[in-house]
Amino acid sequence: TPPSLLRNFCIIAHIDHGKSTLADRMLQLTGVVDQRAMRAQYLDRMDIERERGITIKSQAVRMPWAVEQDGTTTPYALNMIDTPGHVDFTYEVSRSLAACEGAVLLVDAAQGIEAQTLANLYLAMENDLAIIPVLNKIDLPAAQPERYAEEIAGLVGGDPADVLRVSGKTGAGVTELLDRIVATVPGPVGDAEAPARAMIFDSVYDTYRGVVTYVRVVDGQLNPREKIVMMSTRATHELLEIGVISPEAIRTQGLGVGEVGYLITGVKDVRQSKVGDTVTNASKPANQALAEYHDPRPMVFSGLYPIDGSDYPVLRDALDKLKLNDAALAYEPETSVALGFGFRVGFLGLLHLEIIRERLEREFDLDLISTAPNVVYEVTMEDRSIVTVTNPSEFPGGKIGEVREPVVKATILAPSEFIGAVMELCQSRRGDLQGMDYLSAERVEMRYMLPLAEIVFDFFDQLKSKTRGYASLDYEPAGEQAADLVKVDILLQGEQVDAFSAIVHKEKAYAYGVMMAGKLKDLIPRQQFEVPIQAAVGSRVIARETIRAIRKDVLAKCYGGDISRKRKLLEKQKEGKKRMKTIGRVDVPQEAFIAALSSD
Ligand code: GDP
Ligand code: MG
Repeated sequence: TPPSLLRNFCIIAHIDHGKSTLADRMLQLTGVVDQRAMRAQYLDRMDIERERGITIKSQAVRMPWAVEQDGTTTPYALNMIDTPGHVDFTYEVSRSLAACEGAVLLVDAAQGIEAQTLANLYLAMENDLAIIPVLNKIDLPAAQPERYAEEIAGLVGGDPADVLRVSGKTGAGVTELLDRIVATVPGPVGDAEAPARAMIFDSVYDTYRGVVTYVRVVDGQLNPREKIVMMSTRATHELLEIGVISPEAIRTQGLGVGEVGYLITGVKDVRQSKVGDTVTNASKPANQALAEYHDPRPMVFSGLYPIDGSDYPVLRDALDKLKLNDAALAYEPETSVALGFGFRVGFLGLLHLEIIRERLEREFDLDLISTAPNVVYEVTMEDRSIVTVTNPSEFPGGKIGEVREPVVKATILAPSEFIGAVMELCQSRRGDLQGMDYLSAERVEMRYMLPLAEIVFDFFDQLKSKTRGYASLDYEPAGEQAADLVKVDILLQGEQVDAFSAIVHKEKAYAYGVMMAGKLKDLIPRQQFEVPIQAAVGSRVIARETIRAIRKDVLAKCYGGDISRKRKLLEKQKEGKKRMKTIGRVDVPQEAFIAALSSD
């Protein structure tokens, strides 16, 4: 298809505003998926995506769309790229946007603009995309299209009357939207004679076909049977198959300027096909990649341990398998006194963590315990050496010059009556107000600089509960910043319990110590001797609890009884100790650690 007849677009929206449902209607209207094969959220193919109703991986589909004008019919090909909406997957969103010339900005007509609407719109504008503003869900009784058309026009410019109104549910307005895409989104521009350059915007592992890589060709042409080169690694592969997705894979005789499709090289490891990398021909390679390639960097770390220690090899294999599908997943082995053998795993964010954990438990039948998530700290010692800390218990002792922690730029949208509540929450989380704008008389956008560590723990839940569910949040990494941080250790009879060490702000150290010591006191059974639980910063004890001693002499119960019964009881007691972890002289049932680690 010549570039003049191609339209590459994406749908961007706040989560739940109806991207996937609108995509379904487009698939139907263009005849790509017929009535019988149709099911809701057609493009969300992973089980976990379907159950949670969210999109994790980007998807690209080619759809034919004929436009009648002045008695002639012109056959266009539309490439739609459905993008993930959650902040953890912003990296994928930005790669998808780079593969398009236009974006449908979808806004729920009963909700109005939300934080991720703005974040995605800004990303689209940075990529110079043509923006088509659309109000969705106009079938809802609570829809207020007039009001929100004003809001959108105020944001992207133009006349409120030009904001399209559609319903992904009923299909109303979707034909007009497809026509508008053809009319408004420019065809792709590229040099057909130049060496091939194609951008990888997604790659997935398929059990039968190996790695399937999704690309958008910018210059030149990719042909089957040719040798290609991945520009970031210089690795060469043979192109076994090339084609388009519509909505199943269809082989083609190649992909030219502006075309979007897939390629298969027979490699088994997704790391060979990195999102953001550039593909070129081996015979006539391009000099320059399309954009600099960055590996997505894990932002949040957690220890993952099998509850049954003998599952350790299963966990290791499972992580290896998931990694094939997920370049952002990072892990290395770790041991813990309290939890045994496990891994320190790095994630893009909390949702990413939750999804990986759920997949490990479901797809690999593992029972896991994860330690409290933490961010990455950079510690500069007084002798200028730098230590990167991904596990709080490894925070260095000795003379520390400075500790830096990651910060994020957060955007919070809320009805103006909640300004006070939002400010109070952000202040308690060490936030720094950067600016505030009214989107309308009732809705305000607040911009904060916040430590990532403060957002990682229940910030979103707190924000929702303090605004009766009306606030929305988006954030992006904004570098690192020095902070007054200390490590709090938890000691059981003088021995450090590694899984409970935490890095917290100086002012919150006492509260953390008291909370953790109290929790463990309730969970650890009494022993034959008194057990002190202490929270300490360095050698300074900041909180203390005591588990009082009991004398639990099992033999006393069967005084005078026969000797074999006594032996049995002793055996039983030994059995019970197997699942105990010994910290110093103290026996702690593993359940106590698990309970203490799970959040209430
Ligand atoms: P996404 O997160 O943006 O992909 O949103 P989904 O397409 O998964 O839709 C979120 C929810 O809104 C689902 O429960 C849909 O059934 C519902 N929904 C989507 N579009 C419409 C619409 O046009 N009208 C109504 N009434 N509900 C819709
Ligand atoms: Mg979706």
